[in-house]
Amino acid sequence: MSIDERMVASIVKQVLGRLDEGSSDPRASAAGGDWGVFDSMNEAVEAAAAAQREYLNRSMHDRATYVQAIRDVVLDEENLDYISRLAVEETGMGGYEYKLVKNRLAATKTPGIEDLTTEAMSGDDGLTLVEYSPFGVIGAITPTTNPTETIICNSIGMLAAGNSVVFSPHPRAKMVSLHLIQLINRALARLGAPANLVVTVSEPSIENTNAMMSHPKVRMLVATGGPAIVKTVLSSGKKAIGAGAGNPPVVVDETADIEKAARDIIDGCCFDYNLPCIAEKEVIVVDSAADFLMFNMKKHGAYEVKDPALIDQLVKLVVQENGKSPKTEFVGKSAKYILEQVGVNVGDDVRVIMMETKEEHPFVQVELMMPILPVVRVPDVDAAIDMAIRVEHGNRHTAMMHSRNVDKLTKMAKLIQTTIFVKNGPSYAGIGVGGEGYTTFTIAGPTGEGLTSAKSFARRRKCVLVGGLDVR
Ligand code: NAD
Repeated sequence: MSIDERMVASIVKQVLGRLDEGSSDPRASAAGGDWGVFDSMNEAVEAAAAAQREYLNRSMHDRATYVQAIRDVVLDEENLDYISRLAVEETGMGGYEYKLVKNRLAATKTPGIEDLTTEAMSGDDGLTLVEYSPFGVIGAITPTTNPTETIICNSIGMLAAGNSVVFSPHPRAKMVSLHLIQLINRALARLGAPANLVVTVSEPSIENTNAMMSHPKVRMLVATGGPAIVKTVLSSGKKAIGAGAGNPPVVVDETADIEKAARDIIDGCCFDYNLPCIAEKEVIVVDSAADFLMFNMKKHGAYEVKDPALIDQLVKLVVQENGKSPKTEFVGKSAKYILEQVGVNVGDDVRVIMMETKEEHPFVQVELMMPILPVVRVPDVDAAIDMAIRVEHGNRHTAMMHSRNVDKLTKMAKLIQTTIFVKNGPSYAGIGVGGEGYTTFTIAGPTGEGLTSAKSFARRRKCVLVGGLDVR
């Protein structure tokens, strides 16, 4: 790992700050753990449970200030810079400048307590309120692809809803996840929040994740990751939210603004080197528009590979032998880097590796999470929609369509049933970058919560006052 001067300065500042806070805030040691980091999962869960009990007595105003503190500590330029750099250095995935955008997005556009709207019913029999109430301790499992973004987003939503949270980060994102959790704990302590609302363990591992999932005091599980972990939490016997894999197709028809579609597709596909689960993974284009689309994609940074032998070489390089998963060492790597591994040297202007393939090709079928973008020709838009549904594999995650035909846009949106459907824009518009609406980094297609936010992490409870307070 290379550490530059800014990182050293940042580490020194944080160590000094830690010494300072450690001596002036006895709660840090009194509560156990090291600013939210515990040696064992049992200690972590017990601490989070104690914190949540205390949290029940805090006001909604308090909750709002704690949420704001999480936003502020992440948006501090030095912290933002540090976690964005460290995420790339530690995981070897994605790009620093994209991590900055994504972390800032999570801190600013994740909904807080305003998400928890109360329903009221009044009449001759009195007044009934339906309110969002916390689950208690939530166990949240986070991915390597968005390690800090998911912790920021989940912490804000889960604390806004009155819960405490135990994180089980990916072991390959341990340093940056623990660092962020400690930053959040210090920020909350400065406001007098209950200690240990956001905790984890010093050695994240599958064993610790299992210990977390089976701990009786963990009332809800939220898994953001691939199919294995989603299946595991859904088999746990506990209330679980599963935010799983995607394989987002892009459909382009002959009515689209093809030049803009090409630019949007390339911009979306290479965002954080294609790590986001929402990013464009394959293009399905009607034959009459295909050549012009690919011509324009090349103008915007696509490098077309035509030699079938080279395409095969790329498949061997980046797809595992089982033909079902990408090789981790190429996930989130740049197009330039990947091409270099097969002996093709290109400039920094190359952002995406593009090739024409058939539907059955592994680049179409496998969720690669790297800037390799297969293009498949079809005779017409109806065939394109049918194919998009097939290659999305029923994940109900994300899809894009470039078209000016409202009927066909509506048809695809209805049939593909994805949580996010972006029309005439890059995929990241769907999480609030250049598109309206709030953001989330836990997109729960399998369990149906879809765009998770504070209310997804709460129970709907009813308070009934009989015979009063109806003033109509
Ligand atoms: P991953 O599934 O390898 O890991 C995710 C988390 O689950 C990690 O913390 C990991 O340690 C844990 N884990 C995995 N298998 C486990 C097991 N058997 N037992 C216990 N813990 C286990 O995923 P990743 O490579 O970190 O992330 C990429 C995947 O996540 C992609 O499939 C992507 O689409 C998906 N993802 C989905 C969303 C969403 O919102 N739907 C967001 C980000 C990533």
